[in-house]
Amino acid sequence: MKERGLAVITDSAPEPELQEPYGAILTPVAMAPCTSDVNTVYGTGSKKPDDLILGHECVARVVRVGKKVRDFAPGDLVAVPAITPDWRNPEIQEGNDRHAGRPFSGNALGRSIPGVFAEYFAVEDADTTLAKVPEGVSLQDALMCVDMVTTGFTGAEAAEIRFGDTVVVMGIGPVGLMAVQGAALLGAARILAVGTRPVCVKLAKEFGATEILDYKKGDLAKQVLEKTGGTGADAVIICGGNDEAMHQAIEMVRYGIGRVVNVKHYPGEGDIGIPKFSGGRGMAGKTVKLELCRGGRVRMERILRMVQYGRICPGKMITHQLSGFDRIADGLELMRQKPADLVKVMVTPDWRQV
Ligand SMILES: [Zn+2]
Repeated sequence: MKERGLAVITDSAPEPELQEPYGAILTPVAMAPCTSDVNTVYGTGSKKPDDLILGHECVARVVRVGKKVRDFAPGDLVAVPAITPDWRNPEIQEGNDRHAGRPFSGNALGRSIPGVFAEYFAVEDADTTLAKVPEGVSLQDALMCVDMVTTGFTGAEAAEIRFGDTVVVMGIGPVGLMAVQGAALLGAARILAVGTRPVCVKLAKEFGATEILDYKKGDLAKQVLEKTGGTGADAVIICGGNDEAMHQAIEMVRYGIGRVVNVKHYPGEGDIGIPKFSGGRGMAGKTVKLELCRGGRVRMERILRMVQYGRICPGKMITHQLSGFDRIADGLELMRQKPADLVKVMVTPDWRQV
């Protein structure tokens, strides 16, 4: 691969340094290329250094730990959250974890610090970041927790779903599928999932969608309003679609108490508009939230417990498995091309037993 950012998956990558006293060095056991890695390589993400090691989705083994690390030791199998806030930043005390200090500070791995697609990588603070993979939780399930589950669930949580709600999930790629799952777990009665790819439609139904909407069959907002007797949805979670998604979501959500949550990445420049009329000329009582997924150890431990006790089975989303570190580029290419049968790819390194 010649693309920017991938050349360092070679012997030339520098050994990561253990950051004393709280850090850890880890080695990946299972990795997943992500659409945001595709965005980085193919130019629609924010500008990154040319030699950046990509990757923010992995399950790993701890290799070394700093002197003051309390709860982790070499050999531990851990889920590494994609979002790794600096819990020592004072803004944490104001509840600002993901953007403490500067925008997207919590989105560090493979963005502002070297990522996980390397034989070894470092985290700055093991005790506040890592989560042990509980006994009986599969690699596939654990791997999907680190970004897909926490991102989809962030959407569902921020939508403040209540028992009996009607929820629209726009986009049923892996994040949208987990938003469907999260909405179902939080008590949504009716979940209208927007998507067309058969492999995703099937999973959306398994995860809790009660109806599937096809954006190719006419205006989405109209479809939702028709299906809700003109009232609209209680909540809309935007996980996919184009730059029209925000406009459509505001059109289809209820006046007075409707919530729109966006967890989707909008590439390029420009605006994502608020419609004047269905926005109540600025007074519709509709809430819009723009959210980055939640990270950190406690978050990840909670999500892993959902797997451990049988509430979720996100590993089902892994449709492709590749073996060999040199297959990461192939995995990334699969995520870019999205063949009909693909939802997520897992890559396992071949230099050790997993
Ligand atoms: Zn990701």
